[in-house]
Amino acid sequence: MSESIDSESVDSESGPESLPPCPRCGTPVANVTTVGPTAQYARPCGCRIPVGVFESSD
Ligand SMILES: [Zn+2]
Repeated sequence: MSESIDSESVDSESGPESLPPCPRCGTPVANVTTVGPTAQYARPCGCRIPVGVFESSD
């Protein structure tokens, strides 16, 4: 068995409303709009970000 879960630590303490800042411009993200299977738009800045940056649990 190889352990895949390693580096990325899951913050269970942070609420679902606590999203990280936009990876492109650094603006605090309030919401994410999914526009496709591989793309999302961060709000309110509107930057296009790859899916997976803001991984929503389930
Ligand atoms: Zn942005």
